[in-house]
Amino acid sequence: GNMSSVSIPPPKCLLKSLVVPYRHMFGPGPSNVPLRILEAGANPVIGHMHPEIFKIMSDIKSGIQYMFQTQNNMTLAVSGTGHSAMECAIFNAVEPGESVLTAVNGIWGERAAEMTERIGKLPCYSDSFCQSYGLCDHTAISSQALSKHRPVLFFLAHGESSTGVLHPLEGIGQLCHKYNCLFLVDSVASCGGTPLYMDQLEIDILYTGSQKVLNAPPGTAPISFSERACQKILNRRTKPVSFFLDLSWLANYWGCDGKLSRVYHHTGPVTAFYSLRESLAVLVEEGLQNSWERHQEVAEYFHAGLESMGLKLFVKPKEARLPTVTTIVAPHGYDWKEITAYIMKTHNLEISGGLGPSVGLVLRVGLMGCNSSKANVDMVLAALKDALKHCHKSKV
Ligand code: PMP
Repeated sequence: GNMSSVSIPPPKCLLKSLVVPYRHMFGPGPSNVPLRILEAGANPVIGHMHPEIFKIMSDIKSGIQYMFQTQNNMTLAVSGTGHSAMECAIFNAVEPGESVLTAVNGIWGERAAEMTERIGKLPCYSDSFCQSYGLCDHTAISSQALSKHRPVLFFLAHGESSTGVLHPLEGIGQLCHKYNCLFLVDSVASCGGTPLYMDQLEIDILYTGSQKVLNAPPGTAPISFSERACQKILNRRTKPVSFFLDLSWLANYWGCDGKLSRVYHHTGPVTAFYSLRESLAVLVEEGLQNSWERHQEVAEYFHAGLESMGLKLFVKPKEARLPTVTTIVAPHGYDWKEITAYIMKTHNLEISGGLGPSVGLVLRVGLMGCNSSKANVDMVLAALKDALKHCHKSKV
């Protein structure tokens, strides 16, 4: 072998054309992307520092402020999926020597705790007040957790997509602030599909994802920080562990720091920004309240249909059911994997099993954004009926 010879041959697979099937994306995400939003992303690439992209980013910022119902100036989209927004929130908001509290009512609280632990020298307290993956008890949060551990940040998932629980948020922000703690809320699976008022609820950091209710491709994550959160973050003694997610850099790139010039931080995913802008435009055209009402109405129609075919909903109290992602008790006697595989193969439709603590216990169906319609509910119900007829059922 000559040092300069090409020893890895060109892969034959790449000489065949790209093939991507169309699927009904009715799992907990990603959801289907309407042509209009896909086409927005097919516009020409321009520079990540060109004035036209700054205008598009400014439009995105206004769209997120509307979606979150916030006046926060520090509002932007992280270049990455929901996980990057989670890390952006946690890595910026806390420093070594402080402590964090996470409500573990499903996988997202577990993940938030894991991210916090990775910072090091930073105790993270979890789960002392959530009853078996259900709802957290307000009095337990304050008396046991906030007063005892004195955390600087409290994490709660609004829409717990692993369990299908919609957690009430009323009063928690006020409670946190009594203890000088920031309130961090994950709304990746809920925002846009159910009422959420960032400012009124005194939420300090709120984030969501592009690929759920917004029906944009995965890869951007809206996030917003309150004035209180910014005060703490911009007065840190140490730098955040992540350069990429450092809010002072992101604030400059998104024009949120009041400076006249922007400095290169990273190459923003410009085509993903076009799609995100288009998805926010769709939400603005429909109107937030109309979107909330449609998701609720479709969810109730779906839940009634499931119950009438003898299936059981995993979340018992109606008001705690997430309208975007429904968890169904895994049908007795069946292998849930056979059901999801059968529905994919026969109906070209994705639904999923459980995640984290709910694996084996549930089937999960997401009807988000444009997918939230009665026609799609009928399609899922027909697919489930068909699967229960054709999949293997044990006698025991
Ligand atoms: N939080 C919640 C509630 C989610 O449902 C998800 C996505 N399933 C995430 C966070 C993580 O988002 P992503 O997969 O985009 O990183």
